[in-house]
Formats: sequence, C-alpha cells, structure tokens
Amino acid sequence: MDGGRRKEVHVLVFPFPGQGMVNCMLKLADLLSGAGLLVTFLNTHHNHRHLSRFSGAHTRLAQRPKFRFASIPDGLSEEETRSVFNFFDLEESMRTRAAASFRDLLIAYRDKDSGGWPPVTCVIADGLMPFAVDVSEEVGIPAIIFRTISACCVWAFLCVPKLLENGEIPFPEGADLDEPVRGVPGMESFLRRRDLPSFCRQARDHTDRELQVVSSVTASANRARALILNTFESLEGSALSHIRNNSPVTYAVGPLNALARTSSDSGSLWQEDRDCMTWLDSQPDRSVVYVSFGSLAVVTREEFMEFWHGLVDSGQRFLWVVRSDLINRRGGGTEVLPAEVEEGTRERGCMVGWAPQEEVLSHPAVGCFLTHSGWNSTLESIAAGKPMLCWPFFADQQINSRFVSAVWGIGLDMKDLCGRSIVEKMVREVMEGERSEELRRNAREMAEMAKKSVAEGGTSFNEFQSLIRLIMSLDS
Ligand code: UDP
Repeated sequence: MDGGRRKEVHVLVFPFPGQGMVNCMLKLADLLSGAGLLVTFLNTHHNHRHLSRFSGAHTRLAQRPKFRFASIPDGLSEEETRSVFNFFDLEESMRTRAAASFRDLLIAYRDKDSGGWPPVTCVIADGLMPFAVDVSEEVGIPAIIFRTISACCVWAFLCVPKLLENGEIPFPEGADLDEPVRGVPGMESFLRRRDLPSFCRQARDHTDRELQVVSSVTASANRARALILNTFESLEGSALSHIRNNSPVTYAVGPLNALARTSSDSGSLWQEDRDCMTWLDSQPDRSVVYVSFGSLAVVTREEFMEFWHGLVDSGQRFLWVVRSDLINRRGGGTEVLPAEVEEGTRERGCMVGWAPQEEVLSHPAVGCFLTHSGWNSTLESIAAGKPMLCWPFFADQQINSRFVSAVWGIGLDMKDLCGRSIVEKMVREVMEGERSEELRRNAREMAEMAKKSVAEGGTSFNEFQSLIRLIMSLDS
C-alpha cells in the first residue's frame, strides 16, 4: 500500500523475439491493459523497430497512457540475427547475453521512478526464456510464464524424458514413421512417430542438444508462479489436465485473438499488403484457398513449384503469402519466380508478401487455409471457423496438424508429402470433395466452442479473470 492508497499494478510482458510469440503476447498485453493494469511491453531492439513501423496494434497501444514499449539488445549482431533465423542460436543469445540487459532493466524499473511509472510488480515472460523467471525472482519480482505453443505439444515435451527412457526416441534406424508412439498418455490411440514434434524425429541420441533444450525449457515452467496457455478447455482439456500435474496453476485463456475482440489489428513485424483484401472482396464466397506458411518456414524452389502447380491444377482460386525470404533463404538473395508463375497466378490467384491474416481468415471468400500449422495460425483459423489443409514444417507443427485431422476433424494433414498431384487432390478434397461439407461443419462447430469459451462465463473468460486476480495478489 502507498500512503493508504493501493499501488497501481504494473506488469512487464517479455516475449521471445519471434513473430508468433510477439503477436500472441501483445494480445495478452492489450487485454491486461484493458483490465486496467499498467503494462510495459519489452521487445528486442530489432523487433521494436519493426513493430513500431508495421504494427497497427503498436500504434493504437502506444497512445494509451498506461501502456508503453521498451527494448533491449538480443545479443546478436544485426547481420547474425537477420541472415538466418535459427531458433537455437537466438535462444542461446537471449539466455547468455540478453539476460544481463534484462536484469539491468528490471533493477532500474524496480528501484527508480522511471518516467513517473510505479515499480514493476509482476513479469510475464515467454516460457522459452526460463532465465527471465530466475532473474525476476532473484531481483524480487514474481514471474509468470506464457507458452505460446499448443497444450498438446507442451504435454508431449513434458513426456520426452519418458520417451527417451522407454526407447521411443531416438527412432531406430529405418523406423516406420507410421508406427504408434507409446509414452504420451492421452494420445496413444492416434499419435504416430511422424506426429511427434520435429525435434524428436531429428534426435540422433539421448544427448541431442535441441531435444534437451525444448524439454528442459518446458519442464521449468513449474518454477514460475503460474503458466498461461493460448488454448481453451473444450479444445485441449485432456492435455491441460496432464500439464496441471507439472504446473498446477495453469490458465488456458485462448483463443486470445477471440478474447481480445476489441480490435483485429495485429502485432505484425512485416508490412501488410492490404490490396489482397480488395482482391478477396471480388471473389465468390468460399472460393479461395488462403496459403501461408507463417513467418519462419522456408521452402525449396522445387517445393514451391509443386505447391504452385498443385494449386493451379486444383482449379481453385488462391491467395498466397510469399514472403521475400520464403524460398531458399539459406541460399541467400531473393528468388525470382519463373514467368509462368506470374502469368498463371494472375488468372485465379493473388500473391502478397505479408497479409493481414486474421482479417483474411474471417473473409467470407476464404474457403480453406493451407497452413504450416503454427499454433497462432491454427487458433486463428479455428476462431474464424475455416477448415485447414496442413503442411507442417517443424517444432509443434507436426503434432498440431495431427490434432487438426485425427482428433478435431477440422482439416486434412498432408504431412511429409508435397507432390503436385497430392496438393491438387487434397485441396479439392477440402474445398469441394466428399469430406468438405463435414470438415466445414466441424470447423464451424469448433468456432462456436471457441466463441463460448471467451464469452462472459466461458472457461477462457473465467481463467483470464483468475489470472488478473493472481497478478493483483502478487502486488503486496
Ligand atoms: N501472419 C500474418 N500475416 C501473414 C502470415 C502470418 O499476420 O501473412 C501472422 C499470423 O496471423 C500469426 C503469425 O503471423 O499470428 C504466425 O505465427 P504462427 O505461430 O502461426 O507461425 P510461426 O510464424 O511462428 O511459424
């Protein structure tokens, strides 16, 4: 208490520096601010520059007197950070180098009156950075963790020690990837080797660095006061109940884009091309396949061409996000697309460098989402009630796409296949084939469940209120 008056609660939100995490945690920050808390949103310098240039949400939130943005260095040189996004290099740099800047900033925010703002009373850090919890608690500020992946993947990561112990991973030489996996309770009837998060498939032995990082980072969530997940009970109730054995105070508050219904602007780090909205307006209802592989995935030129031919051969219209670094980024330089792509696309397609994805997904012209199954994209599609065709790349995407197809029945999984005839066949199947009506119906029903969970009295609505109460109680 401060002179008999209750201090204002000040939360510092600190995402891992990737587009999906920033977008998702900015939504949470927006909601916390809407609930009356003071919020500092902490980015890396690099992402801060991009967010302030390209994000509508940044422009809106920066005008709020009780919301501010701050930034620290990520510890990498500009060239290192941008030449190749390597999650593990960035994770290591944040842990070993950015951590010191984070500590200095927290101490300054704790001790000094920074611009008339009261001290930080609670940190909400991305679960990929457990060091942020340790640093916060060490300087006397309680910390909460936010994992921006699916609950099913968090649960699979928590099971990694058991999977190693019973010899499920590493996979034996020449393993049949369609064999079922034992050791992830609740998923044994449908989880195959190929559906495990990509790190399990890549691991050569039990000391594999990437597998160790993801599983130990996930298990360390229980060091925080609470765990926040962007999901909802009726979608992932079973995984959530398993996770609560490790982290008893877990709040499922998603889909955050539906809970934050006040605005559809995004935390984009890329310049959105809004011309695609005009193009969509001129297309018939449910006639367009929206194609996006998120912010990180990279395809080879051959894969790109197989997708393009498959889409054209399917006879469907399409809107495709082709980021400037989507093709062969590792080769360096920008790929020039063959002339046939430009000509063939003009007839029934549209390509953009970056789209206002949530708006696109809500547009009536969009009939399905050909996606890499990133968790944000998956939830945005669920909230918009659009069926999916999944082509997962890495991390949680393999398990997300299995849930989309085999558990929730709201899409098809094209995992590990990418020939043009497969693409053509599966696009047709989702858009107009025998199963398309069923997939659409299931997707609509799932969107209704999402809506209920974020409406007053719904599970995500209630868990968000509980989270606010917990944060207030930390301000002692
Ligand atoms: N996104 C967007 N425009 C695009 C492509 C993606 O706004 O053209 C957003 C999308 O809405 C999502 C995020 O970028 O919020 C991607 O996150 P996701 O977890 O799906 O995948 P990642 O980029 O982390 O692989």
